[in-house]
Amino acid sequence: MDETASAIKWARCLEIIKCNVTEQDFRTWFQPIDFVTYDQERKELLLRVPSEFFFEMLDGQFKKLMHNVMWRVYSKDTFITYRIQKTDDTTIDRETTPTNAKLRKGKDDKLQAPRKPSTDDLDPQLNQEYRFENFIEGESNKFAYSVGKAIADNPKQTTFNPFFIHGSSGVGKTHLVNAIGMRIKELHPKHRVLYVAAHQFMVQFTESRRTNTFNNFIAFYQTIDTLIIDDIQELASSTMTATQDAFFHVFNHLKMNGKQIIMTCDRPPSTLKGMEERLLTRFKWGVTAELEKPTQELCRRILLSKIRRDGLTIPDDVVNYLAGHSYESVRDLEGIVNSLLAYSVVYNHEIDLDMAEQIVRRTVKRQSKQVSLEQIVNACCEYWKVSQDDVFSKSRKANIVIVRQVAMFLTQKHTKLSTSKIGLHIGGRNHATVLHSISQVKDRIAVDKAFAQQVSEVEGKIRG
Ligand code: ADP
Ligand code: MG
Repeated sequence: MDETASAIKWARCLEIIKCNVTEQDFRTWFQPIDFVTYDQERKELLLRVPSEFFFEMLDGQFKKLMHNVMWRVYSKDTFITYRIQKTDDTTIDRETTPTNAKLRKGKDDKLQAPRKPSTDDLDPQLNQEYRFENFIEGESNKFAYSVGKAIADNPKQTTFNPFFIHGSSGVGKTHLVNAIGMRIKELHPKHRVLYVAAHQFMVQFTESRRTNTFNNFIAFYQTIDTLIIDDIQELASSTMTATQDAFFHVFNHLKMNGKQIIMTCDRPPSTLKGMEERLLTRFKWGVTAELEKPTQELCRRILLSKIRRDGLTIPDDVVNYLAGHSYESVRDLEGIVNSLLAYSVVYNHEIDLDMAEQIVRRTVKRQSKQVSLEQIVNACCEYWKVSQDDVFSKSRKANIVIVRQVAMFLTQKHTKLSTSKIGLHIGGRNHATVLHSISQVKDRIAVDKAFAQQVSEVEGKIRG
């Protein structure tokens, strides 16, 4: 058989596959495959795939389908070798086995569900402090609260799947999703609930690739009954599309098997830049709810509840004063109460209106203070004693690069500039480089205490 005939056969295979998988799967997993050769004597079909992840998928989820089709179109016992493209431009060939007892046992092409481990070995990683009992319902969170309750009371329902909660920082997203998880565990102790921050998911994924335990990683996530994934925007800002691929895979598997997925995000799905369209579409399949800025009424009730729960003694006039303000987030309100307590201890002074006024004034001032990119770069340069020209240049010197990265990180955090704009102003970098820089800073902050301290000192200077 000559090469052209073999290639035509490959086209035929694709046609058959197309009829047997969803359009989305076809586009995602099969269209990117390149036919390389077919060795008739060895009955070996060589296909090139863009990454290790494709190999995992094709040799996992679609293994039976692939073999059925290849055997039908090429010849019986054809085996497939995948040539995997590595990021460093090299390739590696991985063979699949032509016949496999497990394959024949399967009733259909679906990946057999991994054996379900007992719940005992799974730490749900929930924050025990965040419960429905201390989550106050109000106008700003009514809808999210009701949906959350409905899921918690009946985690097997499928109406609210996935449940996508969004809202700015400090409005109660993490609290609410933990409350859902805690309630499910109370009502259904055997239910496998897992809370994971998106960032943690990314770190685990990267680690699994490094240690060749990717299959375990995926298999583990596939055993979860309710997956809570917090701050999903972190996945969007990841420069590693492979992480999104992995999440996509986990998401599909759970959704297909009627398992609940709950996500939080600091913005609505429609403005989630950097997230693949196929994921965004899926996020909108279920229910999306916004946690809005807390109303004054809600803040007052949260304040009273906190005072009662923590047994605090705060004079009425101070409570009224605090409750008379609007706060951007519940976290701000809690911050003020905590500062009041700290002040009264440090200065050995009863909490009074004067003290409350001072603290509120400072917090409110901080909130309204606008910072510019120039101020941020300026503060970074002063702190690390490098010149602004260097930071704005394309210099690759290590000490300059790090200052530039921190400047990008802080600009994203404290201004409304888009990552493309940040890149344009700082060193003429593109949007992807900015995202990469920001995630490098975040990663380092997570592991390097001294560095985290330096960044927070610069941050303090910026805020004034
Ligand atoms: P987010 O995840 O949206 O940034 P968090 O869930 O961490 O916000 O909430 C910030 C703080 O505010 C937490 O201490 C949380 O307990 C508290 N909080 C937020 N909303 C409420 C609420 N409705 N009732 C009680 N506490 C709340
Ligand atoms: Mg949170």
